[in-house]
Amino acid sequence: MGLFTRRKTVFVDSDILVIGGGMAGCGATYESRYWGRDLKIVCVEKANIERSGAVAQGLYAINCYMGMQWNENQPEDHVRYARNDLMGLVREDLGYDIARHVDATVHKFEEWGLPIMRDPKTGRYQREGKWQIMIHGESYKPIVAEAARKAATKVYNRIMVTHLLMDKTKPNRVAGAVGFNVRNGDFYVFRSKAIIVSAGGASHIFKPRAVGEGMGRTWYAPWSSASAYALPILAGAKMMQMENRIVLTRFKDGYGPVGAYFLHLKTYTENGYGEEYESKWHDHTKELVGDYVDRHPVPTCLRNHALLEEVKAGRGPIRMVTKEAFQDSHKETVGWENFLGMTIGQAVVWASQNIDPKHTNPELTTSEPYVMGSHATCSGAWASGPADYAPSEYQWGYNRMMTVDGLFGAGDAIGGTAHKFSSGSFTEGRIAAKAAVNFVNDLGNEQPQVSEREYEDLKKVIFQPLENYKVGRNEIVAGTVSPSYILPINGLQRLEKIMDEYVGGIGSYYTTNEPLLTRGIELLSMLKEDLAHLGAEDLHQLQRAWELHHRVLTSEAVAQHTLFRTETRWPGYYYRADHPKLDDTDWHCFTLSRYDSESGKWEMEKAPVYHIID
Ligand SMILES: Cc1cc2nc3c(=O)[nH]c(=O)nc-3n(C[C@H](O)[C@H](O)[C@H](O)COP(=O)(O)OP(=O)(O)OC[C@H]3O[C@@H](n4cnc5c(N)ncnc54)[C@H](O)[C@@H]3O)c2cc1C
Repeated sequence: MGLFTRRKTVFVDSDILVIGGGMAGCGATYESRYWGRDLKIVCVEKANIERSGAVAQGLYAINCYMGMQWNENQPEDHVRYARNDLMGLVREDLGYDIARHVDATVHKFEEWGLPIMRDPKTGRYQREGKWQIMIHGESYKPIVAEAARKAATKVYNRIMVTHLLMDKTKPNRVAGAVGFNVRNGDFYVFRSKAIIVSAGGASHIFKPRAVGEGMGRTWYAPWSSASAYALPILAGAKMMQMENRIVLTRFKDGYGPVGAYFLHLKTYTENGYGEEYESKWHDHTKELVGDYVDRHPVPTCLRNHALLEEVKAGRGPIRMVTKEAFQDSHKETVGWENFLGMTIGQAVVWASQNIDPKHTNPELTTSEPYVMGSHATCSGAWASGPADYAPSEYQWGYNRMMTVDGLFGAGDAIGGTAHKFSSGSFTEGRIAAKAAVNFVNDLGNEQPQVSEREYEDLKKVIFQPLENYKVGRNEIVAGTVSPSYILPINGLQRLEKIMDEYVGGIGSYYTTNEPLLTRGIELLSMLKEDLAHLGAEDLHQLQRAWELHHRVLTSEAVAQHTLFRTETRWPGYYYRADHPKLDDTDWHCFTLSRYDSESGKWEMEKAPVYHIID
């Protein structure tokens, strides 16, 4: 008990609390100040916003820019593109809302000092592809973070948020959040009138290809630990399309991106025998998904599908043909710089494996699945849409408010809006912030009330793994396996194994079915029970413990959604072997879930997809 009485509790009051200071969180913090000059705006981040989130290492391209000033693309074009890539299922109102504002965001980045490459002939931004513009992006995150830092009343770095707090009198109203400082162990109670969750996506819920000492080397950032989903799920927010996990085709072992290679360097792929293979799978794929395979561009999942089928047919490895492009010294420089500015690890892998892409065509592979709301998939919370554009069924309050009052989201946290990427996530943060400020202003004098009992109870729960370890450690004299506690790493590996084997990971070529999912869900519920026995030897491990909690709950959502959608909508991302075809008659709809934290049960429902753009 001494452990709890000594621990300091810090109370922080705010009008707007932004959880997660990545791209969306920085956008939300910046914009909250613009509309809420006198408001108290707090951003809380488990790392340090200077270099946190998926963009931490820097990027080489901004992947969402319309170019409306030069009439390159219009917002409607982007909605059509995202809809096609997601096999018909996107929230067109939300996507349009981002696309119409994203250019202004990018112009701000440039104003703040981000070097954007320009085409020397036209003077326009240098395009990598139809939607991508090239940047010198090593300092992308520090530049964006500076804007947030200057806007915030205070940024709290190194605080991991573990739970949201609900209002003690209104059951569906968020009122705050709790967490702990990962460096000194202080307990934090945040009380806020509105909350914006922008805590990124989820890696390491499926077993990664890189295991053992290499397990941190995944495509997606290992610190993206599913809080953006688990926090709203626990608060009872509806989630959408959580089955829509993403699988990336990337350079093998280093996961270096391929976009600049395909789009800018015009490299292409071949099988292990030097043959073109994608066209071979055309008729087979058409049988499964109809004319989506003939669309331009071919949806990302279907390109994965052809690669996977070719490898399954025994004609791997698949290689990127770089030898031709790299004879051009300019392209060679661009190819290397692409990694040096963003994924240095890939350059190191090539050096260590004697791969010079000028002389050797490097291998490609498909990653393990991740959950993301901002890349080429769109899992996340079900959010209210913009007043001037969303159909009435998609509107129940303020823009980007979830189905819990006062709880907003942006970036990976919000579902239905694929292809927003870094710039779109920042933009969505701005959109959510403007709405959250309106929400706060409309409250007048109303103050949300947190329950002391609730946060005191949570305090015990949050630090319990330290106690479990302290007591249980005495039962063993050596090693790490204890009869009384489970370490976060062991819990994580158990989760990854369940998800891999039952929910469609790399081990089963992304394939699952109803019996596998049913058993997987049973095993996940047993794992959930055991989480009460997590042991943490220090604060770092305590953070790992809570990241695991968030990953497990999110994984459960993924499994439940995958079970509910009895079709294979996105072959190449995952396969329901018992329903191998796309089924537009029954499943041209969104899947929604709501978790009841009292009973531990999930309610599933369908929601209509409205096509607003022709
Ligand atoms: C490998 C990779 C390459 C990419 N390449 C490009 C590209 O070339 N161009 C492009 O435009 N986009 C790219 N993207 C997409 C872009 O990075 C994302 O769209 C964007 O970062 C999403 O913003 P976000 O704010 O939702 O998440 P993030 O930027 O990941 O931010 C989430 C933040 O929440 C914090 N957090 C998480 N949990 C908690 C918690 N419990 N408590 C407190 N804080 C928490 C994290 O530390 C992090 O700072 C890439 C993404 C990846 C993964």
